[in-house]
Amino acid sequence: MTKHIFVTGGVVSALGKGLTSASIAMLLESRGLRVQMQKLDPYINVDPGTMSPYQHGEVYVLDDGSETDLDLGHYERFTNAPLSRGSNYTTGQIYLKVIEKERRGEYLGKTVQVVPHVTNEIKNCIRGLGGPDVDVVISELGGTVGDIEGLPFLEAIRQIPLDIGKENCLFIHLTLVPYLKAAREVKTKPTQHSVQQLREIGIQPDILIVRCEKPIGADNLEKIGMFCNVEKRAVIEETDKTLSIYEVPQGLVEHGIDQLIVQKLGLKAGPLAMDDWWNMLNRIRNPEHEVTIAVVGKYIEHKDAYKSIYESLDHAGFSHASRVIVKRIEAEELYEAGPEKLLSGVDGILVPGGFGMRGVEGKIEAIRYARQHDIPFFGICLGMQCAVIEFARNVLGHEEANSTEFVATTNHPVICMLEDQKSVTHKGGTMRLGAQLCHLEAGSEAEKCYGKPVISERHRHRYEFNPEYKQQFVDAGMKISGTSPNGTLAEIVEVSDHPWFLAVQFHPEFKSKPLSPHPLFRGFVEAALNRHLARTHATV
Ligand code: GLN
Repeated sequence: MTKHIFVTGGVVSALGKGLTSASIAMLLESRGLRVQMQKLDPYINVDPGTMSPYQHGEVYVLDDGSETDLDLGHYERFTNAPLSRGSNYTTGQIYLKVIEKERRGEYLGKTVQVVPHVTNEIKNCIRGLGGPDVDVVISELGGTVGDIEGLPFLEAIRQIPLDIGKENCLFIHLTLVPYLKAAREVKTKPTQHSVQQLREIGIQPDILIVRCEKPIGADNLEKIGMFCNVEKRAVIEETDKTLSIYEVPQGLVEHGIDQLIVQKLGLKAGPLAMDDWWNMLNRIRNPEHEVTIAVVGKYIEHKDAYKSIYESLDHAGFSHASRVIVKRIEAEELYEAGPEKLLSGVDGILVPGGFGMRGVEGKIEAIRYARQHDIPFFGICLGMQCAVIEFARNVLGHEEANSTEFVATTNHPVICMLEDQKSVTHKGGTMRLGAQLCHLEAGSEAEKCYGKPVISERHRHRYEFNPEYKQQFVDAGMKISGTSPNGTLAEIVEVSDHPWFLAVQFHPEFKSKPLSPHPLFRGFVEAALNRHLARTHATV
């Protein structure tokens, strides 16, 4: 029988519930258990695809094309749990299902209510992930206990032990224990209140994970346990990890969380096999080089807007014994100040994906600077489209070249709308989404990086490289090194007489893991490192 773990959060948001859930899943997997993961988001949007990155951070895309919460990125980076549309539910999706059922007449004349109809739908979505080949399902509830929107979800998970037995369920609650400088002590009261709120709903946490800046001491842990009705060994502290998020599992293992979960759920698990991970942590702690990459975007001040890109750069650094220092540059600022001022001295330049016109001219300037100064350049999605526009303007001489996303009437629409997007009217879930095959040109940089002729990558866009311009670009030195299987869509472009200039229409950042960095990020960081080493030797 599949066991269920529920992870809730209290006191404040942004405690790293996603990271903690992913770390727990990884530890269970490394003990030989088969795990499924899921995020339940109480907001009303059907998915985060229609939300601004300022609201929500990055939208994380899965192979099946679902646009999901960025916590699913942590799940994929830490575990091998297969993720799909059923791995992220929002209130919007749940209500949509309930309302569609009501319209089909499936409730047979009943009044449709939050309890039991909405809660039953939530329970179906949770239990639907279980099955004969799944040992544990971990469901993480977004938001904080006490949020109005979260109540139906809490009510649903409260009921699950009644359906499948208390012994098959485990509630983990994550809270904050702040240190008050003025009082010079840590405060456990907010945690007590948060657990009280949970218990009012009828949920008694089995394990408490208390987030804290520094260790809070055995006395405090004991006190929390007593007030919250949780046994002492199940109150676990999780201190801030300043070096790397990949240290989180280690802290949890040191407090015996895997053993605690295995015992409490009566799981049959093998010994912990984490050697590769621990070796990786050693490499992270002892880098031999530092390499600086500029990321030129428009949501730069939001720490999570380019989450997977920053993670992928780190992963590539791990495999080159390097620490990657990211210089975050606001594209509009770069346009104002000029690229020289902000980009001289960096070892590589990356332009990520995005939507809308703001910042585009700054991104194009950054790309011109990278191309003309032989600085390794990596463009992703909108970053590739900007690279095409830059080349059209400054090499082909089409000064007005643009994307029809920004100037619908441009004389040179080198980026234009995908044919099957032209009839689309709704915004939600209608882009070209998810995994697509791509054929690589033999001998190209892309093929060298991947080491194989056909790849699969995830997409999220409406516009494409205009095929009518293909020959002009090829004749002038921009290679199309990756195409869709039928040869129509340009998926990768490269500039040949350059140390490393490659841009992709897809999102490689969604497929990089710390122990298996993405081949293109690895290639890019290697080129940047080579430039760094050549320059530092030159100046010695
Ligand atoms: N706005 C561009 C498009 O829709 C790029 C999208 C992206 O970068 N994800 O094609």
